[in-house]
Amino acid sequence: MSGTLYIVATPIGNLDDITFRAVDTLKSVDVILAEDTRHSKTLVNHHEIDTPLKAFHEHNETHKAQAVIEAILEGQNIALISDAGTPLISDPGYVLVREAKKAGVNVSPIPGPSAMISAMSAAGVATDRFGFFGFLPNKKAARIKAIQAIAHIDQTAIFYESPKRILACTQDLLAVLGDERIVCLAKELTKSFETIKTDNIPNLLNYLQEDVMHQKGEFVVLISAVDKDSKVHGEEQLDKILPILLAEMGTSKAAKLAAKITGVDKKHCYQRAILTSSLSSSAVLNSKKDSIS
Ligand code: SAM
Repeated sequence: MSGTLYIVATPIGNLDDITFRAVDTLKSVDVILAEDTRHSKTLVNHHEIDTPLKAFHEHNETHKAQAVIEAILEGQNIALISDAGTPLISDPGYVLVREAKKAGVNVSPIPGPSAMISAMSAAGVATDRFGFFGFLPNKKAARIKAIQAIAHIDQTAIFYESPKRILACTQDLLAVLGDERIVCLAKELTKSFETIKTDNIPNLLNYLQEDVMHQKGEFVVLISAVDKDSKVHGEEQLDKILPILLAEMGTSKAAKLAAKITGVDKKHCYQRAILTSSLSSSAVLNSKKDSIS
């Protein structure tokens, strides 16, 4: 009889945020696959679980998936957990689940916390439609492009950000989204310094800069959906027309015209024009580098 692969959600901070069924499952399976066995030791000790932990992370996932599937087909029950929250949500496990399903293995979720859902439940942004974008790119130019790509979707956009980049990322949000868009920074959820700030981006930047401790911890960022009737809509038009205007004229003239066409503030159009031309010149540089190499 083949066993089951359980995908078990674990806490995102507070060790008691785990379901009875998750604890029972972790106690009853033959093996727990954990992203970082040392990290998960704290959780299993806290809940008196003595099932063996084995390492299963992004670097060995492809290599180990087949052996895990064979063990399940031979009758073992195996649980997959990650360092925090729901496995596969910006965490390893996709390859294993995909291959397990191909092999006819029963895969069963044991639901529980996820930082993105927890953040959304308390952010005060629309929850009827949303998109999740994992982690945005680390490099500025790529991150700005990613923000531009999600800036105009008419649903809440959610992504994860590290304390190292939260300030730079929020500055990029301001450059692309302007100072009226409502954003939520949800940090250290379920932990002692849990903070959930929903505000315009200049106020969020003030918060991050007024105390360096405000930049510490784990963050979920939620961008409220674009309101097609508000000035924010002008941002979408800016993205479309600025590259066209900049191909024909200088930054300042392009910004003035863009402000007239869209009704967006002149100063903001100027900042966006500078950003757009610097992005397109770095793209030209990169394509030159590519063609030389
Ligand atoms: N699988 C996890 C889940 O279901 O949410 C996410 C794992 S991902 C590698 C880790 C990222 O999730 C962190 O960098 C942070 O952005 C976010 N995160 C995890 N725990 C969090 C918490 N307690 N508060 C805020 N964000 C958190």
